[in-house]
Amino acid sequence: MAKKKSKRKPMAAKKPIQPLDTLFNCPFCNHEKSCEVKLDRQRNVGRISCRICFEDFQSSINYLSEPIDVYTEWIDECESVNQ
Ligand SMILES: [Zn+2]
Repeated sequence: MAKKKSKRKPMAAKKPIQPLDTLFNCPFCNHEKSCEVKLDRQRNVGRISCRICFEDFQSSINYLSEPIDVYTEWIDECESVNQ
């Protein structure tokens, strides 16, 4: 087996979501990257809050949870409320 040279993938100009980012767009005020996620690993609680409109949300997390999970849950919650 010949070794393949690892090619560098061209970076996409816009990434919709960066997995380890803790800043997300706010579904309420639509500001970009205004919502910061904080994971409290000791209490297994994830918290997200918007520094512009002060909306916030809390959810339970586990050791596998990432900030994006809290954000996704928040979005789901928002959508179910809106329906
Ligand atoms: Zn907001």
